[in-house]
Amino acid sequence: MDPRVATLLSHVRANAENRPGVYRMLGPSGELLYVGKSVRVRTRLLSYFRADEGEKAAEIISQAHLVEWEYTPSEFAALLHEFRLIKSHRPLYNVQHKRDRSHCFLQITREAVPRLRVVGQPGGSGGAEYFGPFHGRHIMAEVVRAVSDLLELRDCPSDTPMRLADQIQLFPTKEDPRCLRGQTARCISPCAGGCTQAEYLERVALARAFLNGESDRPLVILRERMAMAARRLQFEYAAELRDRAERLEHVQSWIVELGRTLRRLSLVYTVQGQGGGEDRTYVLRRGRIRAEVPAPQTPEEQAALEARVRDIFSLPEPEAIGLRAQEAQELMLIAKWFRLHPEELEGTVPASVRTGSGEASEEVEEARAELARTLERTVEGPDGAEDEGRTAAPD
Ligand code: SF4
Repeated sequence: MDPRVATLLSHVRANAENRPGVYRMLGPSGELLYVGKSVRVRTRLLSYFRADEGEKAAEIISQAHLVEWEYTPSEFAALLHEFRLIKSHRPLYNVQHKRDRSHCFLQITREAVPRLRVVGQPGGSGGAEYFGPFHGRHIMAEVVRAVSDLLELRDCPSDTPMRLADQIQLFPTKEDPRCLRGQTARCISPCAGGCTQAEYLERVALARAFLNGESDRPLVILRERMAMAARRLQFEYAAELRDRAERLEHVQSWIVELGRTLRRLSLVYTVQGQGGGEDRTYVLRRGRIRAEVPAPQTPEEQAALEARVRDIFSLPEPEAIGLRAQEAQELMLIAKWFRLHPEELEGTVPASVRTGSGEASEEVEEARAELARTLERTVEGPDGAEDEGRTAAPD
């Protein structure tokens, strides 16, 4: 064994305990190589030294010059801490190896003439809007194509020159659309003066409303075209449109389901401490953690928590499903946690009960059961696609 690795091993053997926590592997200049979490830090760290050549763990430990760890009150706390460290530091081996490929998102790009795209992960493009997470990248690519065609949105590369009808031209010239979609009425051709910016953005707003579950305009257009194709005896084309409509309907009903999940992930969650850690209470609103406090032990602390919950839920918040990158990732993390640990739902109380607008006990039980069912349906995705990531929760 390399003497440096042997020194790290002795350090772990002498000091690490089997408690939940987060560990970090650092490189020669102190750069963060990898962040991981475990419910048993000592066992997890020792496993790195037993890894076979070629395994990711062996590669990481061969590069590490320092191993650090800190304990957390529970596995859930470790999961959150790991998530936040990875988000803020983007360690080399986490970025290379821990990308969850089982989900995708729909993105409305932040451009003067926006596009609808499928992306693997939110982020990287400041201010873009994301919808999802979805399963089945292939299906979602078809959905993007269908919605883009129906609403005549562009799908060309970002550097394609645009010439909107209201753009001031020094030497106005008539131009043809730059691609076949424009020539076949599948794009309104903002590249060739086919619309003003406002006209184009109206269509983007329709796409956004569809993805927020607020409008079924693309479906209405599709059904109109289907009926017209049937009237013209174009039965093959009508059947193709019917299949497209079915896919869009699936996606839309799944979007409604996702909205339910978001609403149901508004709760107060108390996590039992593990390995001597304290109990902690988390306040979630729409799948995001808005507050984290030691679990109340006295009536005064309980009252303070109730007041905090009321404050958090008294702030207005849009009902839309469009998520910013951070929100989408945190939602995925929490949804995955409850899906993999359904017994943890026992520690949750819906916010409606906490804020006094619901009936206790029976409603709590019902809400927990509904959340479990909703999470399962959400995870299955719009097409019932296999969840490759079912066991791929961060660990
Ligand atoms: S017609 Fe023009 S704007 Fe539309 S997709 Fe083609 S190149 Fe892009």
